[in-house]
Amino acid sequence: MGEKSDVNNQDINGEELLLLRDVYKNYGSVEALKGINLAAKKGECLVILGPSGAGKTTTLKVIAGLESVKSGEIYFKNRIINNLEPRNRNIAMVFETYALYPHISVYKNLASSLNALKMDEKEIKQRVRDVATMLGIYPFLDRKPGFLSGGQRQRVALGRALIKPVDLYLMDEPIAHLDAKLRYQMISEFKHLQETLKISIIYVTHDWREAMSLGNHIIVLNQGTVEQSGKKEEIFKKPKNTFVAQIIGDPPMNLLHGRISGSGGKPVFKSGDIEIALKERLEPGPAIMGVRSSKIHLTSSSGNSRIKAEVYSCGKHGMNTVVSMKIGDEIFKTEFKGNQKFEIGQKIFIQLDLSSTCIFNEKKELIRVLGE
Ligand code: ATP
Repeated sequence: MGEKSDVNNQDINGEELLLLRDVYKNYGSVEALKGINLAAKKGECLVILGPSGAGKTTTLKVIAGLESVKSGEIYFKNRIINNLEPRNRNIAMVFETYALYPHISVYKNLASSLNALKMDEKEIKQRVRDVATMLGIYPFLDRKPGFLSGGQRQRVALGRALIKPVDLYLMDEPIAHLDAKLRYQMISEFKHLQETLKISIIYVTHDWREAMSLGNHIIVLNQGTVEQSGKKEEIFKKPKNTFVAQIIGDPPMNLLHGRISGSGGKPVFKSGDIEIALKERLEPGPAIMGVRSSKIHLTSSSGNSRIKAEVYSCGKHGMNTVVSMKIGDEIFKTEFKGNQKFEIGQKIFIQLDLSSTCIFNEKKELIRVLGE
C-alpha cells in the first residue's frame, strides 16, 4: 500500500504554495514519515486525515520547521525551506494542546501575536475584534485564560494563530476538545473564513466527517505513508485500497472476502456459500467486495439474489438502528432507517445494491468500482 503521488513529476510552477518531496523523518528507530509527497495550493484547505500515529503532527512540524527532516525537500513559495528558521517561514501553527499566556487577558493573548509585526494599535484592535467575533470569544476579551473553559481556551489559541497575516496556517486537530455542537459551528465558521478570505490551511484530523466537511482536497496518511491524495468525492467513491475505504464512513465500508469466478460463463463473486452475480466481467481470482452500509437492504425471505445473515448485535444511532450481522464468517455493520427491532441470533435476509460497490484484489488495492 502507499502511493507515490504524481507530485514528483510536477514542476514547481508557482501554483503550489507548498510541496513535500519524498520527505523522510525518523525519531531514532521510529520512522514517522517514510518519504511522503504532498502538494497544497494557495487559497485551499488541504486536510490530512489519518489514525493515531499516522504521522500527521510530524508532517505539520516539518512544514513549520519545528522538526528537521532526514531527507527529501520542502518547497514553500517556490523555494526549498528545509534549513529556513521557523520564524522566517511566515507559517502559523496551532496545536491541539493550547499554549496561552496565563497572566494576561484574552485580548492581550491575541494582540501579542501581532507585536512583532509593528502594526498600529487601531489595526490590532480591529483584528482582535474580528477574530474574537468569528470564534465566539468576544465576550471574554477581558478575562485571563484561567477563567475560561477548555473549549474557550482552545478557541483563543486558534485565534492567536488566525490573527496573524501569514501565508499558511497549520492546524493540528484544533477543535478536538470542543463539544459536538461547538465543533459543528466552528467547522462552518472555518469554511466561511477559508472560502471568503481564501486563506491557505493545512488541517489535520482523525475525524473523517471533519475532513469531508472542510477539505477540498484530502490526503489520507497511515503509518508515515500517503495512502491516497485527491478530491473528497474521489476518496469516498474510489478509495485506492481497503484502508482508505474503511477510514471514511460510519459504519465503515463492509468487506467480504471471496473469489471472482465465471460460473457457466456468468461472472460471480463467491464467498463461502454466498454467490453474488456480477454484471461486469472481472479477472477471476481472490477478491474483496467492499459494500457501503447504504447499499445494504432488508428483503423478504422469498426474494431473488438475497443473502442470509444472522443478527449479531443491534443498537440505536439517533433515529436509526445499527445492526451487526454475520454473513458467512464475516461481520457486516449497517444502519437501517428508523427504529427497528432485531433479536440477537435472528435470521434475516439482505440484498446488496451493487452500484458503486468496490472490488479490491488480494493486495487490498481497488480494481473496479461496479457500475462505472
Ligand atoms: P495522533 O493523531 O495520535 O496525534 P499523529 O498522526 O499526529 O498521531 P505523530 O505524532 O506524527 O502521529 O507520530 C508519528 C509517529 O512518530 C508515531 O509512531 C509517534 O509515536 C512517533 N513520534 C512522534 N514524535 C516523537 C518523538 N518526539 N519521539 C519519538 N517518537 C515520536
